[in-house]
Amino acid sequence: MKNLTILGSTGSIGVSTLEIVAAHPEKFKVIALTAGENLDLLKEQINAFAPQLVAVKNEELALKLERMLSGRKTAVMHGVAGMIAAATASDTHMVVAAIVGAAGLLPTAAAIEAGKDIALANKETLVTAGRLIMDMVKARGVKLYPVDSEHSAVFQSLQGHRKEDVRRIILTASGGPFLNLSGEKLAQVTVKDALNHPNWSMGQKITIDSASMMNKGLEVIEARCCSTCRQRKFRLISIRKVSFIPW
Ligand code: NDP
Repeated sequence: MKNLTILGSTGSIGVSTLEIVAAHPEKFKVIALTAGENLDLLKEQINAFAPQLVAVKNEELALKLERMLSGRKTAVMHGVAGMIAAATASDTHMVVAAIVGAAGLLPTAAAIEAGKDIALANKETLVTAGRLIMDMVKARGVKLYPVDSEHSAVFQSLQGHRKEDVRRIILTASGGPFLNLSGEKLAQVTVKDALNHPNWSMGQKITIDSASMMNKGLEVIEARCCSTCRQRKFRLISIRKVSFIPW
């Protein structure tokens, strides 16, 4: 049985993670959940998975959630301290880091410090503090599994192989809804167009970052931070096909 804390349980990655937990109750148990502001969904998740602890963004939301839960045993915390308490809960074996943005950094770092294995979706953790985080991972001897699909694919492909044998790793990108759009048409697109990703249903920030290609830049930084690729240099070779190639 693997005991989980899910940071960002009300987001796209968090909800998908809980679907897997629900499908395999003999393999996974939820110890703690955190959310930002979506109290209705968090309440549903508390009823379904009975975590020991939940944390939300601020005190006002925590008080509101406590009223909504009336009588339930789940402890309700808030703010960074609450996220860290969830990330370091003593019964937790693995933390799924799926808060969006830099708010994911401190709880993820605290989880590593507490010796928890990490399933990392929150790429901003590595974008903002990659070297520090990877040094902590090494020092604490925890496992860090990439959840981001490209990085997970690279990670899985390298299992059983020697990293010295890898000459290059190529990340490709399409720009989502804007593939094949002329520069002229691109100048007229709206936020609504950008949010209409043809293949994936993701959170708003990553969907916009995908459409603007910013996400690919973040992914290059994320990949650069992982131990497999450390010490190598990277370059961007095309706006349509982004590659990172050691040279
Ligand atoms: P969402 O926007 O769908 O979910 C974000 C989660 O973070 C929600 O639970 C939200 O709570 C919570 N949250 C937001 N701000 C705060 C805050 N200040 N404090 C605490 N919690 C907060 O994002 P995604 O699930 O799409 O993405 C999560 C991470 O995974 C991102 O870093 C993204 O780049 C990465 N990722 C996502 C992929 C995807 O397919 N979605 C693929 C690869 C990587 P609430 O909604 O309750 O306010």
